[in-house]
Amino acid sequence: MDKYTIFGNPIHHTLSPKIHGYFAEQTNHLISYEKVLAPRGDFESYVRDFVTIGGKGFNVTVPFKIEAYDLSDKLTSHARTAGAVNTIKIEDGQLLGHNTDGIGLVSDLCNNLEQTLKNKDILILGAGGATKGILLPLLEQKPARILLANRTKSKALDLANNFSNFGKVCGFGLEQIKDKPVDIIINATSASLDGVMPDISSGVANGAFCYDLMYGKKTPFMNWASNNGATRVVDGLGMLVEQDASSFEFWRGEKPETIDLLSALKEIAD
Ligand code: NDP
Repeated sequence: MDKYTIFGNPIHHTLSPKIHGYFAEQTNHLISYEKVLAPRGDFESYVRDFVTIGGKGFNVTVPFKIEAYDLSDKLTSHARTAGAVNTIKIEDGQLLGHNTDGIGLVSDLCNNLEQTLKNKDILILGAGGATKGILLPLLEQKPARILLANRTKSKALDLANNFSNFGKVCGFGLEQIKDKPVDIIINATSASLDGVMPDISSGVANGAFCYDLMYGKKTPFMNWASNNGATRVVDGLGMLVEQDASSFEFWRGEKPETIDLLSALKEIAD
């Protein structure tokens, strides 16, 4: 049986083992997929051990996406542009790094949630591994602007600068967010994992479509958005399912169907 896994810290909340189990059954692929809590500072040795036991590939979540990028022997163009890796295929002991975060988010927004991103003002909160992965696929949808706000302002400025060739991206600190509505707000901080709402002005959510990358529970960001005039508030479950489908295809060469699984998972969550 081919072995796959996901490394993260924390990792208890992940639904990826369940999702990949469903994909494997649907496509008749014989695989195992487990979640592994990797200690911060020891990610590399966990990866090397997994390669040694014959692992075929793995996903990477918070906070290891940049380390996974650095460890990769080869990169797909998506991963290279993102500067972050969430999916690795192991071939002849070599690590081929890929990034499916943005593909998953755009697929959920545009196909499942029927949003148009063209000519919209999109505010992204956070400038970590997830943001790096979603920026290019979002920019490819030709939004009017991406406003990139981060607690550590310098990271937002650097990212905005790195992606400026692909569209209009402005970087700034969270405290500089104006009290002025935007079309779409994406919470790509890890604050929801800690049960915290980033400290930002409330007027920006008025009339906005709000999306939290976190999934599995109603987050402080989602409550904040509902209480401040958002037209629709959604969690990141659809993104997770879509990016896992894209990872599965990268490893196994077959794209699984996602619609029935997503409906079933949403029913359980409600
Ligand atoms: P990283 O650790 O790489 O980055 C974390 C980001 O969150 C940084 O920008 C950090 O700011 C910011 N942050 C953390 N705490 C706070 C806070 N209290 N207030 C404001 N900003 C804060 O994480 P990732 O980018 O990999 O992941 C971010 C989130 O996205 C996670 O919740 C993850 O679970 C989710 N995710 C969901 C996916 C899905 O499929 N649904 C896929 C990928 C990610 P600073 O730079 O100042 O430290």
